[in-house]
Amino acid sequence: MSSRAPCRPAPRTPRVSAGGAHRPWIAGLLALVALLPGAAARSAPPLPSTPMTPTTPAVRSIVRLHETHAHRIHVETTVEHVDGETLDVSMPVWTPGSYLVREYARHVLDLAARDADGAPLPVTKLDKNTWRVTTRGSATVTVSYALHANERSVRTNHADADHAFLSPAGVFMRVSDRPDAPHRITVEAPDEWEVFTSLPRDGQAFVAADFDVLVDSPLEVGPHEVLAFEHDGVPHRIVLAGDNELDRDVLLTDVTAIVAEVASVFGHMPFEDYTFILAFVDSGGGGLEHLASSVCMIDRWAVTSSADKYRNVLSLIAHEYFHAWNVKRFRPEALGPFDYDREVYTRDLWVAEGVTSYYDDLCTLRAGYYPDAKKYLEERANAFRKEAERPASQRMSMAQSSHDAWIKLYRPDENSANSTISYYSKGALVAMMLDLRILRLTAGRAGLRDVLRLGWETYTTQGIGFPEGAFQQLASEVAGEDLASFFDAYVRGTDPLAPDDDLRWVGLRLTVKPKAPGDRRLEEDADGFPLEPRLGLDTSGANGLCKIDAVLEGGPAWSAGLNPDDLLLAIDGMRVSPGDLRDRLDRAGGGGPVEVTFFRGQSLRRVLVEPELRRLEDWSLEPLDEVTDEQAAAYEAWLGSKHPSRS
Ligand SMILES: [Zn+2]
Repeated sequence: MSSRAPCRPAPRTPRVSAGGAHRPWIAGLLALVALLPGAAARSAPPLPSTPMTPTTPAVRSIVRLHETHAHRIHVETTVEHVDGETLDVSMPVWTPGSYLVREYARHVLDLAARDADGAPLPVTKLDKNTWRVTTRGSATVTVSYALHANERSVRTNHADADHAFLSPAGVFMRVSDRPDAPHRITVEAPDEWEVFTSLPRDGQAFVAADFDVLVDSPLEVGPHEVLAFEHDGVPHRIVLAGDNELDRDVLLTDVTAIVAEVASVFGHMPFEDYTFILAFVDSGGGGLEHLASSVCMIDRWAVTSSADKYRNVLSLIAHEYFHAWNVKRFRPEALGPFDYDREVYTRDLWVAEGVTSYYDDLCTLRAGYYPDAKKYLEERANAFRKEAERPASQRMSMAQSSHDAWIKLYRPDENSANSTISYYSKGALVAMMLDLRILRLTAGRAGLRDVLRLGWETYTTQGIGFPEGAFQQLASEVAGEDLASFFDAYVRGTDPLAPDDDLRWVGLRLTVKPKAPGDRRLEEDADGFPLEPRLGLDTSGANGLCKIDAVLEGGPAWSAGLNPDDLLLAIDGMRVSPGDLRDRLDRAGGGGPVEVTFFRGQSLRRVLVEPELRRLEDWSLEPLDEVTDEQAAAYEAWLGSKHPSRS
């Protein structure tokens, strides 16, 4: 995830320090790699790297973790060789990859400054996230502050008696007179705790080439277990932060397989080492990508409770790892270097997230973690259905969704189904269609993978992001045909997704058939579709009552004036409990309006609502009746298993 900015060098890939004495696991592996024939040829051309300018003194920070039991972190940042009358320090308001202004500065406490002798220096708050220190001629300024750290997510600080997770955008300050300076970070932690980050170490300090690299290198600190492996000569490690019941050997094997599948899409390794931080929590999830690391939050109980949930974790790991190429390096030009003081805008977040979402499941399938391709195709068909049914699909394009991520997708509300589409879920389907379109147009010689590789060559190796419109040009170049109409329809426009022409290449089609109603007694229409009475709303349980979460625009509930947060009590005088609304409506059938009794706030109300009769549909991507050898081969090349007609 991320947004836009002018063409400046790409964020530098953290480099492992030559000595490596403090990272023996890497030092040993690198020594081994150096002996391998052709080891140097494994990587694509390295990103342009601006060496640390010796004339730019490093900003030095100490993070003290002696009070984490109270969710408190202490930071002290020292700037030397200051020659101005004032020095400004500021904390980012957001972090790359997560498009919401989070106002990290609200957690800053007791900020103070002092000179080299410890004498206090005046500090003035300039705006919500900037402090100005009057230097009084001191060449050394030390700024100290505390942070409240009690938000458990992949992009916010969390510290307690067991660990500390440091999301750098919410920990460290930029310094006005040296925005591109290297940063040296020292962490003072309990003896049994270890610091895990992708930043290379130099003595006691972790070193970031500049503030962008620092922000993109989270630190997890605690008494954590580590698993290590390498792929293509590149050391990888998995940090297990928090209690969990995963089988270590199985996890290591599976992540290794996922890594191999993702890396094969690009064909080269863009970093010198990689760190997976797996944070096990009591509930919740999510992930965030970084330059040479990622953070995945995993429900410690759910992950071992079902194969599907474990597969979703592997897919999440694949997703964040894929981002090391797509968005961390091959990126819209708005997405780095960053303006940390305000939102940055791009209409290409769907490339970052949709394309990545397409590949996360595809790589998980190809690595062997779906029960079969049928299950994978069932999920895609279901996703097509959801996009078609979402009212906002007719209102918002993926380009708009990308651009407005800051105020829409990242700030969901009760009207989101009507107002917002997801550039993740729709983006994944459009990426799939684009992949198949290019494969079809090139008779299987090239696909979306080649678009990414061409984009890498064209932009990433130059150290720049791609401008708006470039992804279409890249795709057209690879396809050998102008794809403007595809992008007009599905990226800039809101045309219903129509994948059949592209699915034919792999011997499939999207079908919508009557869905068996099970034990529900429903009328059927002339085409044999069961007709389900619906009010057009989403509900959930709330204190034993049935609460309306969303009212779908144009539906019966919308027209009748039912609202989100109304509590449904009865249909035609019969009590409604969470979970039995469907049954109540089935009993009412399509015989005219029903009386809905509900609470709105403190008041009891009644309204007549005429349920709509909607077809009960079964969407599937099913094999064509007859497929050629070419179609069967294309299917196998795509999904890694035989076409159903050949198995
Ligand atoms: Zn993502």
